Amino acid sequence: MTLLVAGDLDQTLIFSPTAAARGPDRPHRVVEVLDGRVISLMSDETESGLLELDRLAVFVPTTTRARRQYERLDLPTRPRYAVVASGGGILVDGEPDLDWADSVASRLHDVSSPVAALREVFDGYRDREWLLRIRDADDVFLVAAVDADRLSADELAHVASACDGHGWRALHQGRKLYVLPHALDKAAAVAHVAARVEQDTGVTPGLLAAGDTLLDWPMLCAAERGWVPAGSELARLGRSAPHLTRTAQAGLAAAEEIVAAWLEHAAVGTPDA
Ligand SMILES: [Mg+2]
Repeated sequence: MTLLVAGDLDQTLIFSPTAAARGPDRPHRVVEVLDGRVISLMSDETESGLLELDRLAVFVPTTTRARRQYERLDLPTRPRYAVVASGGGILVDGEPDLDWADSVASRLHDVSSPVAALREVFDGYRDREWLLRIRDADDVFLVAAVDADRLSADELAHVASACDGHGWRALHQGRKLYVLPHALDKAAAVAHVAARVEQDTGVTPGLLAAGDTLLDWPMLCAAERGWVPAGSELARLGRSAPHLTRTAQAGLAAAEEIVAAWLEHAAVGTPDA
């Protein structure tokens, strides 16, 4: 059986130095530097595990990163398929899947205001102390840098409701506020990749997944088996399901546990092993 393994990247397989420090120290290397600053780390064991996984299964990085943020990562493999912009884009051999881009554009058009309308909403918050900057991610959603200490629950609820009125949602994660159309979904993008794999191989692939935030939740729910890192947003929210496993350790060691579990299933060739 073919297995499709959908793995979120940040705080699931790669970690910021701060997030890595929440778990045990593991031998690792830097996979992302920006303006001379170390942004992301991957453990050596995760790296060698992903290389092995590439031979046994269809590994699909499934990230909220915009395409250029994904491309600047120094990953051990460049898998054939990658989901970027939280499902807003699929890369096939590094190039955008244009069928998927069309289908995202039409779904967005049906249920959500265009991104320009949300830029206007945030223009209205320009003088708020919590809003540091806001930028586009691949023209499909917005990411705001926020001062979390100054963003009250009331203000966040106000922002969320303004977004909801446009068919968008606001998800606060630490220093970032993700503003995404309701129609944008990693699970739908992974299903599209699964359909392409099925076309190529004639076999419906089984699905394994891992992720740390609410943006990963629908994808985890769609998988036959899924893994959630200890100490992650989903773990803190107490999200669980019978087919989901929470890792024992946080940080770089969580990624090692996840990749080891994927390899075990891939070696047997079934998600139910
Ligand atoms: Mg993540």
